[in-house]
Amino acid sequence: MSMSLPDHSNGLDADFLVIGSGLAGLYASLQASRHGSVILITKAQLEMSNSSWAQGGIAAALDPEDNPTLHEEDTLQAGRGLCRLSAVEILAEEGPIRVHDLLKRGVPFDRGPDGTPDLGLEGGHQRRRILHANGGATGQAVVQALVPYVQANPAIVIWEGARAVSLLTADARCGGAIIERGGALHALRARATILATGGACGLYTPTTNPGTATGDGIALAYSAGAAVADMEFVQFHPTAFAMGHPAFLLSEALRGEGAELWNANEERFMSRYDPKGELAPRDVVARAVAHEMESTGKDHVFLRLEHLSSHAREQFATLFAGLRSKGFDPLSHPVPVAPAAHFLMGGVAVDLEGRTSLPGLYACGEVSCTGVHGANRLASNSLLECLVFGYRAAEAAKDEGDPPRDARPASMFGPALSPALRRELGQRLFHDAGIERSMEGLVHLRDWLTALPPSPEGLVADRIVAGALAREESRGSQYRSDFPAENPRFLGHFVQQRGRPTDLVRWE
Ligand SMILES: Cc1cc2nc3c(=O)[nH]c(=O)nc-3n(C[C@H](O)[C@H](O)[C@H](O)COP(=O)(O)OP(=O)(O)OC[C@H]3O[C@@H](n4cnc5c(N)ncnc54)[C@H](O)[C@@H]3O)c2cc1C
Repeated sequence: MSMSLPDHSNGLDADFLVIGSGLAGLYASLQASRHGSVILITKAQLEMSNSSWAQGGIAAALDPEDNPTLHEEDTLQAGRGLCRLSAVEILAEEGPIRVHDLLKRGVPFDRGPDGTPDLGLEGGHQRRRILHANGGATGQAVVQALVPYVQANPAIVIWEGARAVSLLTADARCGGAIIERGGALHALRARATILATGGACGLYTPTTNPGTATGDGIALAYSAGAAVADMEFVQFHPTAFAMGHPAFLLSEALRGEGAELWNANEERFMSRYDPKGELAPRDVVARAVAHEMESTGKDHVFLRLEHLSSHAREQFATLFAGLRSKGFDPLSHPVPVAPAAHFLMGGVAVDLEGRTSLPGLYACGEVSCTGVHGANRLASNSLLECLVFGYRAAEAAKDEGDPPRDARPASMFGPALSPALRRELGQRLFHDAGIERSMEGLVHLRDWLTALPPSPEGLVADRIVAGALAREESRGSQYRSDFPAENPRFLGHFVQQRGRPTDLVRWE
């Protein structure tokens, strides 16, 4: 494919280039549009993203019995000592403000009899604080409510089917990106480039993520010299439908409403692993499910929903319809479930305003690592993160000056892996960098990755493996069978930057 870098003598293409149209990209674009022109690009269609697939909801301390301090406590507890406290405070304090903005914009959150949002409960939350919509299709409801605002906004130009394949840099500053669209390459120059490309769990098999979640933003940023952090922390969701790829998720919120986990020997098992039973943190439940699968010799356990109340049945109507469309009636049969890769806590390292270590480049949402999730994300905190830190990134980015005129591609993506190699990569990641890891498996995977042709997928997988190898302890979502305990020596974030040794850093 040929590319000519345009002469930008007539100035910038936009003030802000936002890459990715999930919740973080949509919300950052809306906020950025108050300060200048925006080009919003997405490699798929506008509404195709993890955000649209989100089910359970958005956490925010809205109930009179709740407050941001309690939300902070729960987030810190899930993060196993690794959350960046300042980021957690911001998330919990600013969360309700951003959620009120969604309410103002008409997001149809489910309401109780008194007309206020009906707040659900999920594992790890000590209060009911989960806003949800459309019978377990919260993400879709939020995205569908925001998209018309973005489309109607004259300051925002939308490019669908447009994939960022390199950042533009000069003088150690980012000045835009190279976009592949319709077989041609375009250089888009902007004062601020905001990565909102989502996570990387679509690389794994099994996964709950759509095929778009391939960690592109991490590969773009790392290749351009920006730091990434916490890449070893991959969250595995314990209850994904055990049939089909990607695996259909059975939201945590179901267990909040009383769904039970049983093994193939018809034993309800969670109380053997944690006093909180089915509402234990996700990593505990995922490991318990994996152990039960191993000890019973089955590739699944069961989630029992037959006894759920009529209120719960209504709350999850869309989710149940999804299962029925796959030929499965969850109200008459226990549902076979197994863990699947779900969420990446790590990503492009940013400060509290979304600034990466590369000036001019910002990141928000799942692609970023603010440190807010620590070693394990609390359920329903990620949509909230998209709103709170998407807003902050757009606000900070408005102050960027003009980028250098001679910015050039930092490092173009190589061709994507072949479908066969991609499949093998997914299976190897799950096997060797999955729910349980060990030095032996990780080294084996690293050697296999080294022999692959260069690709963004391989680069991201390699960062996950490097983080998992460096962290010789078990904490949150990282379980090392050769180092099964937490070790205070590792109370910090492993930061990786091209050409530099991996560094363990403490963030205030
Ligand atoms: C099944 C499921 C259920 C979930 N349920 C919940 C929930 O109930 N509550 C909650 O808080 N979280 C939930 N999550 C997690 C949450 O959905 C995500 O963390 C969040 O939506 C991430 O939003 P984002 O905007 O950062 O990225 P995404 O929504 O993933 O969007 C990324 C965007 O970037 C685009 N993109 C990627 N690479 C490129 C590229 N190279 N060039 C151009 N565009 C690119 C993609 O096409 C997409 O538009 C769930 C996730 C899944 C998969």
